[in-house]
Amino acid sequence: MTRPSAIPQPAAAASQPFSFDGPAVAAALDVALAAEPCLGARLRSIANHIPGRVAFSTSLGIEDQAVFAAIATADLPFDVFTLDTGRHFPETLETLEATEARYGRRIRITFPVAAEVEALVARDGIMGFRNAIENRKACCDIRKVRPLNTALAGANGWITGLRRDQSAGRAHVPFAEWDAAQGLIKLNPIADWSLATLEAYIKDNAVPINALHRQGFPSIGCQPCTRAIRPGEDIRAGRWWWENEDGKECGLHNRPKHKDADA
Ligand code: SF4
Repeated sequence: MTRPSAIPQPAAAASQPFSFDGPAVAAALDVALAAEPCLGARLRSIANHIPGRVAFSTSLGIEDQAVFAAIATADLPFDVFTLDTGRHFPETLETLEATEARYGRRIRITFPVAAEVEALVARDGIMGFRNAIENRKACCDIRKVRPLNTALAGANGWITGLRRDQSAGRAHVPFAEWDAAQGLIKLNPIADWSLATLEAYIKDNAVPINALHRQGFPSIGCQPCTRAIRPGEDIRAGRWWWENEDGKECGLHNRPKHKDADA
């Protein structure tokens, strides 16, 4: 395949680890992905221009289902995984099974370290994340952030399903950016998609989605920390609704620079 000359090419890929100019590739991919309207073509461009392992972390939410459908349909060799926090809705696990069956592709599941979860629950209680923001962040750190860091270790790229109109905090999400702290390129191939574009893609391609999306749950996280939203509410209003609106992220997309730091 002929590659666009604007994107720096990786060094000869004879052995691991691959050597490549991550910041330069990220900057060029940010421009290239914006110019390509087709999701499949965006993903192929990512596969063609990032050497080594490129990971896709799916939450099994509607955005990630669209991205996974495109990856599976094009049979792209990304490392697809999901984080099982131990607190998912049953509907989320049903979505996982239905997705594997629909596309004939296994999704790798990562789990938190059992001893860390046991120590957390012994300290804070089984619902301790509702008692203080610090407790909640500690729970997200142990159940999500640390397993994510482990799963991403050694990857050169990390694909997400972030969209700019999901929330005010995501309004400036780029298509590609160099994450210096993690030493990889973070890629958001549907950053510019509206909700209407996303729903049309899901419908046109018969992509399986979580049944909760049709019950008022536009954003689905752990069961104890997610509620349905009311008409007119922000689509992430149902996440950690007992906290104020500032900083309502789980830490997956604003992770600490050091892997062992608290989120
Ligand atoms: S979303 Fe809630 S249950 Fe899930 S990891 Fe975070 S605090 Fe824990």
